[in-house]
Amino acid sequence: MGSAFKYDSRYVARVLILATLYYITSKIGFNLSSVAEQVTVIWPPTGISLAAVLLFGPDIWLGIFLGAVLANLSVHEPVIVALSIGAGNTLEALAGAWLLHRFAGPSPNLAHMRDVLILILCAALLSTTISATIGTTSLCLAGLQPWKHYFPIWFTWWLGDAGGDVIIAPLLLAWYYTPYLSLSRRGMLEAAALALTIVAYTYIISVRPEVSGLAQFYPSAVFPLLIWAAIRFGTRGVTTVNFLFYGIAIGLTVMHLGPLSHMQTGLVLDILQTFTITAGITGLVMSAAIRERAESEETEQESRIRLDVVLDNIVDGLITIDDKGTIRSYNKACTTIFGYTAAEVIGRNVRMLMPEKHATHHNEYISNYLKTGKAKIIGIGRELEGLRKDGTLFPMELSVAEVKMGHGIRYFSGIIRDISERKNIEGNLQEAHLYQQQMIRDLQLKEGQLLRYTQDLKRSNQELDDFAYIASHDLKEPLRGLLTQTSFLLEDYKNKLDVDGLRRLHRLQYLSLRMEKLIGDLLYFSRLGRTDLAVQELDIGEAISEIRLMMDTFLKERNASIVVPQPLPLVVCDKLRIVEVLRNLITNAIKYNDKPERVAEIGFMNTAQAPHGPETNVFYVKDNGIGIDPEFHDAIFRIFKRLENPAVRQEEGTGSGLTFVKKIIERHNGRIWLESASGKGSTFYFTIGKIDT
Ligand code: ADP
Repeated sequence: MGSAFKYDSRYVARVLILATLYYITSKIGFNLSSVAEQVTVIWPPTGISLAAVLLFGPDIWLGIFLGAVLANLSVHEPVIVALSIGAGNTLEALAGAWLLHRFAGPSPNLAHMRDVLILILCAALLSTTISATIGTTSLCLAGLQPWKHYFPIWFTWWLGDAGGDVIIAPLLLAWYYTPYLSLSRRGMLEAAALALTIVAYTYIISVRPEVSGLAQFYPSAVFPLLIWAAIRFGTRGVTTVNFLFYGIAIGLTVMHLGPLSHMQTGLVLDILQTFTITAGITGLVMSAAIRERAESEETEQESRIRLDVVLDNIVDGLITIDDKGTIRSYNKACTTIFGYTAAEVIGRNVRMLMPEKHATHHNEYISNYLKTGKAKIIGIGRELEGLRKDGTLFPMELSVAEVKMGHGIRYFSGIIRDISERKNIEGNLQEAHLYQQQMIRDLQLKEGQLLRYTQDLKRSNQELDDFAYIASHDLKEPLRGLLTQTSFLLEDYKNKLDVDGLRRLHRLQYLSLRMEKLIGDLLYFSRLGRTDLAVQELDIGEAISEIRLMMDTFLKERNASIVVPQPLPLVVCDKLRIVEVLRNLITNAIKYNDKPERVAEIGFMNTAQAPHGPETNVFYVKDNGIGIDPEFHDAIFRIFKRLENPAVRQEEGTGSGLTFVKKIIERHNGRIWLESASGKGSTFYFTIGKIDT
């Protein structure tokens, strides 16, 4: 505390003002002293000091000390006594403020019950004993008062200080923390009415106490005014009314007016002091209680509003029913779910929201549960059907919780979720799943069938190849015999047969030779399907050159040429077979051609559009010949199939060339197709695939 000198002028000003206030108010007190010159029951400085320390901190002690010492010196006390009493008063304020801060927080504005009770207990009742004890003891020690008066003096001292703490300190604190009047017009009028009532009351009890008949109620008639102030104006109202009344009562007493004017002044002041302290405490407690109640109602209302907002915004429906099944609350989501508004359902039985089958049993459910405690839904939750206002049913998920309120009342709150959409989706998913399963089963079935077909086909192809081989092989021998016999006949019986016989024999020989050719083709065809491919790299360009050389005479005879517009690639294949393919196609291109200059063009394309889809790496053999009617595009690949071609000279052939070509291409995992129309020339396309080795 020796650090006081470092404080600024503001501090100095505060100290001086406090010391002055202390001095002036203490002089008022001393003027009303009755027990002893230095002791008075009216002591506002205690309240001023407490408020000062609470508001400005303990450093303000110097003002208290100065004021107190000066005031005590003014009532003829030795310096040592004045200093001692001053110290007592200072300590009292510091202790009171410390206790308040310690237990009521940093800014006790007395709006709450806790602040008020701590002010009464710690400051008014407890801290004041310090000053009373130090003061009375100092006076007695100094011989200014006799020891026999110690207790009456102590009590008066204590009562005076307690009054200061209960009447003055709360007034200052309340106005300090809320200095501005923010009253509405009505509030102002009411405050004016209250003030007028106080004035009227004062007038009646002071000037004409005998007339009013109110005299007997004095001073307790202040209570209605205090209650009025507490209810309507809070702590500031209560402390102000109490202070005004305090002032008025002291004034009347001093002026020997009012209903108690016949009594001794000291006694009246004692009575008034005790009464005002009681009234002050009552007023403070009351206004704090009212305020707290209002605050808790406010928070309750706020939280109710907040809860309503939350409940109305959740997507799930929420219904509360009582133990009779009567609907007590119903949120917005319920309106969406059921179609009823809250007004339509609240107060009615919840059965209206259920289909008949549940509704009839619902009351039983509840009473059973209440009796046995066995729950069917409560705390479990399950899927049920709900009934909408329009009479439709919908699937919903319900979970119910039991809520026990005070007075043994039981409520049930149910959370409802409309799961129609989810059910729909689940249904669709289920359907899709079943459909998918069916598809998979079908596919598996088809795949199995396909596998079987392929195997069957392979087997029957094999069997056919085998059959063709056996048949042609076995037929060859008797045919050879037939031919030999025909030759013998022609040689040995040439002169014995007539012309007709010879002609028939020649015909027999021709047909046998043709049959030999056909059988040879058949044998070759079956061999194509049975023998392995001799795979190697083949330069198609070179192959064409070789073919050109081989077919030289044939080409010249028919005024034909083989054209290769671009270089041709290398392919991996059975060389002999692919050369056979090319030779067959080129031969046909020239054979079935009615042009004076016959041309067979061999080329290659990276991509081409085949009837079965796009193909890559495609070879073609194109001619300017007679063309093939699309009707026969499939037939020409069948063995021994020949077309009537009146436009060209009758060419040699068995009708198996294209059959061999197709077989060879298929053995090479390739495809063959053609583009052609009668009189438009033909183009045969083919691919060579990867060969399985
Ligand atoms: P062949 O030539 O021995 O008759 P193919 O199997 O090679 O047997 O041909 C079958 C038939 O297809 C032929 O008889 C012919 O009528 C027709 N043909 C084949 N190639 C062509 C072509 N480039 N132009 C017109 N017709 C063709």
